[in-house]
Amino acid sequence: MGTRVEEKVFRCSFCGAEFSIPKTFVYATCPYCGTTTRVDNPDAKVDHFIFAINYDKNSSYRRVKDFALMQVGIAEDFNDNVDFDSAYQYLVPLYIYEVDIKAVCRGEVEKIEENEVEISIHGGEEAAHVVVIALENPPIDIPKDYSFPAKNRIYFKPSILREGVYLNPSLDPETVFEKIKRPYIEKTLSEAETACGKKYRFVDNSRFVGLAHYPFWIITCNYRGRKYRAIVDAADGTVLYLEYPISFKQRLKGLVGGIGSILTASIIGTAISYTLSSNIIYSAVGGALTALPGLAIAINKFSRSKGVYRYKPSEEAVFAPIR
Ligand SMILES: [Zn+2]
Repeated sequence: MGTRVEEKVFRCSFCGAEFSIPKTFVYATCPYCGTTTRVDNPDAKVDHFIFAINYDKNSSYRRVKDFALMQVGIAEDFNDNVDFDSAYQYLVPLYIYEVDIKAVCRGEVEKIEENEVEISIHGGEEAAHVVVIALENPPIDIPKDYSFPAKNRIYFKPSILREGVYLNPSLDPETVFEKIKRPYIEKTLSEAETACGKKYRFVDNSRFVGLAHYPFWIITCNYRGRKYRAIVDAADGTVLYLEYPISFKQRLKGLVGGIGSILTASIIGTAISYTLSSNIIYSAVGGALTALPGLAIAINKFSRSKGVYRYKPSEEAVFAPIR
C-alpha cells in the first residue's frame, strides 16, 4: 500500500484554470489567479488573506542571533563562531472568525439601524475576533494560545506560493466555528437568564471572515559543527523557539552539581545498607552501582547540553512587540 494522496482535478470558477488537488481538501486555491473557493461549493469565493512578511531570512537570522546572545548561560564564543545554515519559510493556514452573539430580553425593542441608538435591554453580549490554526498537526510547534495579530493582512497573491512551504487547511471550518462559539454562547445565555429570566431572544451575527496564511521561518544555525534550530514569526519577528549552545562553565557547574548529589545519595545508600548488613565493602559497591545511571546522565548532559527557549504567550505582554 502506497502513501500517495489521491488527487482530483479542480476547475477554478473564476479564471477557468484546471489544477489537481488532494481529495481531502476543504479549500482550493487557484495557483494562477489566487482565488480561493470551497471544494464542495466552487462558485462561492472565500476571502483569503496573507500576513505581510516583515522579516526576511536575513533579518530573521539576526533576530535569532541577537535573541540567543540574551540567553543566560549561552556559550561565550557564540557570537564569533555562529554561522547561518538554512532558512525555510512556512505558510501556516488560519481561520478568522468574528464572534457576535447577544441575547435581547423579550418585550424590548431593538433598533439596529444606522445612526440610531439601541434602546433594547441586552441580556448579554459577546463580541470577539478569533484566529485559529486551520491545521491539525502543524509541522511548526506554535504555542496553543499564540495570539495572531488581526492587522497587517493583505489579500492573497499566488506568487506567495513560490516563496515558502504552503500548508493547506485541513480542519472543517464549521466544526471549528461551533467549538469557538460555544463558550461565548454559554456566557451570553447565562447573562440573559440573570437579566431577563426565561424571556429572551438569542441573536447570532457571528461570521466566518475567511482563510489566511501566516508566515514563519525555521532558521538553522551552525556553531562548532552542531546545528541549532529556531522558529521566528516572519510578520512581527517574535522568536517562538530557540536552541542554543550552553557555555562550558555552565555545563561544568551542572556536572559538578550532578556528581555531588549522586555522591551524597550513594554515601547515604552505603550507610543505610551498612547498618542493615554490617558489610562495608558489599554496601559500598551497592551504593556505587546505584549511582552509575545518574552519573551517566550527568556526563551526557555535560558533553552535549543544548539550551532551549520556548515562547510563552502569558509572558507576551512583557516581551513581545505590540500587535
Ligand atoms: Zn483561477
